[in-house]
Amino acid sequence: MSWSERQQAMLEAMGLRVWTALPAPDHEPLATEPPLLAKVEAPASAPEPAPAPVRVASVLPQILVPAQPRAAEPPRVPAAAAGAVAAMDWTQLREAVAGCRACGLCEGRKHTVFGVGHERAHWMVVGEAPGEQEDLQGEPFVGQAGKLLDSMLRAIGLTRADGPPEKQVFIANTLKCRPPRNRNPEPEELAQCEPYLNRQIALVQPRIILAMGRFAVQSLLRSAEPIGRLRGRVHEYQGVPLIVTYHPAYLLRNLVDKARAWEDLCLAMDVLQRKT
Ligand code: URA
Repeated sequence: MSWSERQQAMLEAMGLRVWTALPAPDHEPLATEPPLLAKVEAPASAPEPAPAPVRVASVLPQILVPAQPRAAEPPRVPAAAAGAVAAMDWTQLREAVAGCRACGLCEGRKHTVFGVGHERAHWMVVGEAPGEQEDLQGEPFVGQAGKLLDSMLRAIGLTRADGPPEKQVFIANTLKCRPPRNRNPEPEELAQCEPYLNRQIALVQPRIILAMGRFAVQSLLRSAEPIGRLRGRVHEYQGVPLIVTYHPAYLLRNLVDKARAWEDLCLAMDVLQRKT
């Protein structure tokens, strides 16, 4: 495969200086993929409180459900609770997230991390969960992984900063609160937070979703397949084309997969161009 000057410039913007044809994807990155954010960001210096039991949500009492036994599929919020969130406008949704106490993560957070970007963005990026910096600043992807994400977006002409809806993305996470010590999200936490992300997607009505990393991908697609098997084709989430790619925190440690992430971005651009 040969690259135009523009494409090479994009690759450089993503931190890829050398570009060679990819070998056939012969591995299962997720089998060896390190826990995503957990290994990339330094753990907080002070020990954090253990998650507390689920507590009644004052703002959203409907959200509280008895803890479900762990099944193969993550437990889901019953329709009534999801229905309450599904009717919210942006203001109500922001308030609900800011005051959410539906799972134990609320105990240790400094800020909820709602998401950022254009409310009618054509591109929606979905990551995993806030890390230390995100928790401090209340904005997604502001640490090292966020810098790489910004470069990746810049490489395809997108930004999180102000811009028209075709340029300014909306960035959200599957979890709105930081898991202690950046541990992996628990199924119960994902289930409690899921209606918020669903509503964000419904309000933004993106033309394409970029799902980054195992938790975003597996929870949006209801799949246990590793990313290596899911990427490279077009999925759908509520009628919106969804492209699977690696989490930027993973890419910081696995440079070879940056090339594959670049392919994923190109696929997403192609899909969008074909749609418009
Ligand atoms: N990783 C994520 O998945 N989301 C963030 O907001 C930050 C790091």
